[in-house]
Amino acid sequence: MKAIYGGSFDPVTLGHLDIIERAAALFDEVVVAILGNPNKNCLFTVEERKAHLETVTKHLDNVSVDSFSGLLADYAAKIGATVAIRGLRNAVDFAAEYQMYIINRHLNEGIETVFLAADEEHIALSSTNVKEVAIFGGNIDNMVPSQIKPFIIEKYKK
Ligand code: ADP
Repeated sequence: MKAIYGGSFDPVTLGHLDIIERAAALFDEVVVAILGNPNKNCLFTVEERKAHLETVTKHLDNVSVDSFSGLLADYAAKIGATVAIRGLRNAVDFAAEYQMYIINRHLNEGIETVFLAADEEHIALSSTNVKEVAIFGGNIDNMVPSQIKPFIIEKYKK
């Protein structure tokens, strides 16, 4: 079974990586799909985020990284993915994710959503929080994979 895990990953966090590793253990194939819609103001380009995700998932043979623009439901149909993976940190995530599930079901009946509960270490972790800490020079060691940390620090030097 082929699963798709979509998101902005700007930047990829330890929370995202945990979800990817757990999805890789559950499904034959996992495609990490970077949403490249142009209306989002991102720290990293899609190409940079793709390189980051490829680096941190190198140890996972059944994981690949791609990018898409438009609807996840359409992209999933195009690549033959039948499962959408989503991570859930709290009730706020649940409310938003449940709506997205309903919408995706209407758009593509061939896709089922599987929610993975966030690890307790990652419930307060988001890409936005990483950027808010990094912009003031705070320690992001427990927030992002070690290989990605230098790229984030470099961005805020400029
Ligand atoms: P976006 O906000 O653009 O959808 P994100 O990259 O923030 O993209 O999130 C992608 C997915 O990863 C979502 O399902 C989100 O709930 C999940 N996620 C984000 N952060 C964490 C975390 N710390 N632990 C588990 N899941 C997470």
